[in-house]
Amino acid sequence: MDWQQILATRTQRMSASEIRELLKLLDQPDIISFAGGIPDPDLFPAQAFSDAMSGALSGPKAGEALQYSVSEGYAPLRDWIVGEMGRLGVPCVRDNILITSGSQQALDYLGKLMLSPGDTALVGWPTYLGALGAFNAYEPRYVRFDPDTNRPPESYAEGAEPGRVKFAYLSVDFANPTGRTLDAAARERLLDTAEALDIAVIEDAAYQSLRYDGEALAPVLAREIARRGEIDACRTIYCGSFSKTLAPGLRVGWVCAAREVIDRLVLLKQAGDLHSATLNQMAIAEVAGAEFDAHVEKIRSAYCSRRDAMLAALDAHMPEGVSWTRPEGGMFIWLTLPAHVATVALLERSLETERVAFVPGHAFYADGSGQNTLRLSFSRTDADTIAEGITRLGRLIAAAI
Ligand code: PMP
Repeated sequence: MDWQQILATRTQRMSASEIRELLKLLDQPDIISFAGGIPDPDLFPAQAFSDAMSGALSGPKAGEALQYSVSEGYAPLRDWIVGEMGRLGVPCVRDNILITSGSQQALDYLGKLMLSPGDTALVGWPTYLGALGAFNAYEPRYVRFDPDTNRPPESYAEGAEPGRVKFAYLSVDFANPTGRTLDAAARERLLDTAEALDIAVIEDAAYQSLRYDGEALAPVLAREIARRGEIDACRTIYCGSFSKTLAPGLRVGWVCAAREVIDRLVLLKQAGDLHSATLNQMAIAEVAGAEFDAHVEKIRSAYCSRRDAMLAALDAHMPEGVSWTRPEGGMFIWLTLPAHVATVALLERSLETERVAFVPGHAFYADGSGQNTLRLSFSRTDADTIAEGITRLGRLIAAAI
């Protein structure tokens, strides 16, 4: 069977990256891994979920928990999210919320909703690899978006047919992969640019709750509501997630946006998977309702000390010529090495000799640039292991430059 000849053209941009192949080697126990950007499983509220799930299955809601349900999502969870969005400065109602199977599904559906082949998506350089993966299926062209500069809005539309720039996608707090946060002025500029181009904004807030220091910044959606008066007049689509706060394995995230957008996404959700797992939504509603703030405080404090350990180790062990970000939250630190050091080759050498893993940065660039960059994650490793791993990495990099 020659599958190649019957595949849709969109599959041509779907490929397993060489990085994923390399990262498969990471299961070996002697490797210190700063590669996977995933939460520490020791911090999951496992007992609370066990209680919530057995409660849901043994009580009067057992039938509801196991039955088909509405595509919009479990109403008490949507109501909890309405309260949470209100706290963030986003007044909204239940109809502004759609529950998705992780925020990853929201990215896929937003690509499906807005991108025809050849349309332009504005993305960060670098940006979240999974967003590129989700959008790629809809065959866009990517243009580098940089709200930190005063670049004139029209320049983003150069080379695009009129009306074919569709959205700007940005992770605004402690971004994956850089750990950077967009400051207030850049958030306003982002909105100015989106208004001038008449495009949507996808605000990826996956790490929003994980701030360790500095002052919290109002989401882009909150700023736009301050301009427009109400969410239903806004172009910003906020994608939230319980993956980094409660548990990624339950696959529960949400979209908060104008009703017009939510109504269309509901149709995609119906066609895609009907609805997210009801039992999981019930358990998230129960655990979030009972202990969201207390739990988030606990993980913040754990990740904060790991971030501090990694920054201290980088200060102590990185040779001259290497620079890195100093994130105020999240899970990532982004390193830039001298231009001649290719981090893919460095990773191969590292796995052979120093046994430290990281993610080479070029995968996060839509144009494959960034060959001399890499991403470190501090979320899964204790402070002593971080110190040891960064000492080894410093030695490896010093030898390479
Ligand atoms: N956005 C960003 C920036 C992420 O880093 C991730 C997960 N790594 C996601 C979205 C998707 O997360 P989930 O589907 O688990 O909500």
